[in-house]
Amino acid sequence: MPELPEVQTIVSELNRKIKGKKIKDVKVDATRSAQPSPKVLIDKSKGKTIKAVKRRGKMIDIDLGGDHNILIHLKMTGQLVYVAKSGKKISGGHPIGVVGALPNKFSHVIISFTDGSVLYFNDIRKFGWVKYASNLERELARQKFGVEPFDKEYTLENFRAIIKRSPKKKIKQLLMDQQKIAGIGNIYADESLFAAKILPTRRAGSLKEKEIKELFTVIPRILKFAISKGGTSADNYVRSNGTKGGMMPYLKVYGREGEKCRRCGGTIKKVRLGGRGTHYCPKCQK
Ligand SMILES: [Zn+2]
Repeated sequence: MPELPEVQTIVSELNRKIKGKKIKDVKVDATRSAQPSPKVLIDKSKGKTIKAVKRRGKMIDIDLGGDHNILIHLKMTGQLVYVAKSGKKISGGHPIGVVGALPNKFSHVIISFTDGSVLYFNDIRKFGWVKYASNLERELARQKFGVEPFDKEYTLENFRAIIKRSPKKKIKQLLMDQQKIAGIGNIYADESLFAAKILPTRRAGSLKEKEIKELFTVIPRILKFAISKGGTSADNYVRSNGTKGGMMPYLKVYGREGEKCRRCGGTIKKVRLGGRGTHYCPKCQK
């Protein structure tokens, strides 16, 4: 599943590719992928021009001007493939089918532009969606996400309050709760907790003030660094230009089980926590 840095990478590339383009047509082949309904998505989007592509948490937010927007969530297996008129492809999200012909049986929403380029939303498991939204609906969708590590609302005070409100929750699961803090997924939760020297299995309520401060500081730093590297290619992710995300060599614990801790020389362990593979150093994370 793409995380915030990966979604930000797709968003940046979509801004370069589709901003200013006019939507000629929208085709939908799976009712579930198009919301609120295929008809609304098609009728409301046709003829509109892309003003900007933004992001809130892991949701992609396409501004069509006026009271019109398209929201996209890739969820587990969603993928966006932009095909220029020349046939050159750029893709982001789930890597399966990148090299295949388009459209394919997973191309559930197809947005074509008047210049001959096309944006395909492919999704194997159909958990993802492409949604038409008015400005109000868009605002409501954005509000479902908690504070963003890059927002001005992301303050030590607010961060501390989030932790204090769920003292019994395991700290890693709390970090991954999108309604509390937006955009931290499995990879960056593990990396942030390693950086702050906190065991992922700790109860949030057991964190000392110094640890809360440290965690608060490392989260945006790690996400920013990952964005600068184009994200991580682990899980189901490839960068939207087809290359693998450049963050992989910089990961300290994620995907390194059995390897040596770069900080203390201990051995990185992997356990399951809330159904997710969780990586940590038992020696220097407390
Ligand atoms: Zn260590």
